[in-house]
Amino acid sequence: MKINADLTKCQGYANCVMAAPEHFDLDDRSLVVVLQEHIDPADLVNVEDAVLSCPAKAIWITES
Ligand code: SF4
Repeated sequence: MKINADLTKCQGYANCVMAAPEHFDLDDRSLVVVLQEHIDPADLVNVEDAVLSCPAKAIWITES
């Protein structure tokens, strides 16, 4: 499982950072930074919460 991000959609709401701070941060332009693309099974719930909480639909999960 892998995290994908579309920076052209990100609007810097930071919901993803609050849901899964081990995987997401914001850069100095308030655009999402994926700290760790690979998702450990133990983190999956948090990352799914981050995806669902993104109002811009700028992050999503793929199988690989
Ligand atoms: S929640 Fe979505 S729009 Fe907000 S910083 Fe994260 S990826 Fe960007």
